[in-house]
Amino acid sequence: MGFEFTERLNKLPPYLFVEIDKAKRKVRAEGRDIIDLGIGDPDEPTPKEIIGALYKAAQDPQNHHYPLDQGNSIFRDRIARWYKERFQVSLDPEREILPLLGSKEGISHMPLAFINPGDVSLIPDPCYPPYKGGTILAGGVPYLMPLRDENNFLPDLNKIKKSALKKAKVIYINYPNNPTASICRKGFFEEVAIFAKKYNLIVASDAAYSEIAFDGYRPDSFLKAEGGKETGVEFHSLSKTCNMTGWRIGFVCGNEKIIAGIAKVKSNIDSGVFNAIQMAGITALDISDKHLERMNKIYQERRDALVDGLNKLGWAIKKPKATFYVWARLPKKSKSSIEFAGLVLDKADIIITPGIGFGENGEGYVRFALTVSKERIQEAVQRLKKVL
Ligand SMILES: *Cc1c(COP(=O)(O)O)cnc(C)c1O
Repeated sequence: MGFEFTERLNKLPPYLFVEIDKAKRKVRAEGRDIIDLGIGDPDEPTPKEIIGALYKAAQDPQNHHYPLDQGNSIFRDRIARWYKERFQVSLDPEREILPLLGSKEGISHMPLAFINPGDVSLIPDPCYPPYKGGTILAGGVPYLMPLRDENNFLPDLNKIKKSALKKAKVIYINYPNNPTASICRKGFFEEVAIFAKKYNLIVASDAAYSEIAFDGYRPDSFLKAEGGKETGVEFHSLSKTCNMTGWRIGFVCGNEKIIAGIAKVKSNIDSGVFNAIQMAGITALDISDKHLERMNKIYQERRDALVDGLNKLGWAIKKPKATFYVWARLPKKSKSSIEFAGLVLDKADIIITPGIGFGENGEGYVRFALTVSKERIQEAVQRLKKVL
């Protein structure tokens, strides 16, 4: 029988990490001792307090039913309190907060609520792939805003073509940034809000790494900026914050109308996050300060081990202030990010992500994820000696 994929499915690029995972399984099967600095998935376990909260909540039959689409009200209240304490932003738990099955889910479903076929999303490049994927699945057209080192990996809003702005409905921003590990200067969020108002754009601020930061730096919220709540929403995730990638829990906060749109899409697709996981999410926010103090110290030590180690080998890389990634310009002799990542895998049994996987402007770079122990990172540096 001749089944055919839709045009929109055919337009989607293959999901980067599915491809990398295939390559990884192949070399693992050969019995090689691989150091995986590829995907950004915390290696440390979920804190035991959170697991305990899940265990307790899972035993309550009340939690065995369909969760409410709009999310558990105690969890929403806890998120509101966390936002207030962490960012000094007030949110209405009824209308301005929505739990998600991981923030990727909300990020990729949002365009279905606000993008008509042919509408444009303004998307940083390189970027986290679901901004493009969600836009394409909604029939929209990604317009890429290059992130360049000379502009500190911020998009240059003045360079966006007028023709694209006419059709643009959404602008994605992501600071602290994946994959470049860059942070944004003070005032950038305000500039984005002013720009969004001028062109009637929805701002989708992806704050997945708002809690992973070093050297005393504390990332800010887009919603705190003047005009923030008027123009946008912010996506948060417990995945990176509390080592909960497998649990699938995140939330989106901000503009009431945008939240209502996402909620309407979701109510037609899923039926919410398992109540016991939302209860565990409350505990996650309760213990996050203490947990993050420990984790950020660990990531900072790993960052220093990697960057200091590579600098000693003559590879000049700057230390990022946030995220658990290091974004490194390719060493002089290498031709492409795919070729270099392949060489590193063949010669050093290390997995790193080629920058091109995050978009055409990622070419010329590779990304290291700091999600293995300091000792393994030191071992990786030793092995890289052979390659560099
Ligand atoms: C990991 C990540 C997410 C989302 O993770 P979820 O597990 O779906 O909550 C979102 N944005 C960026 C930039 C990420 O790196």
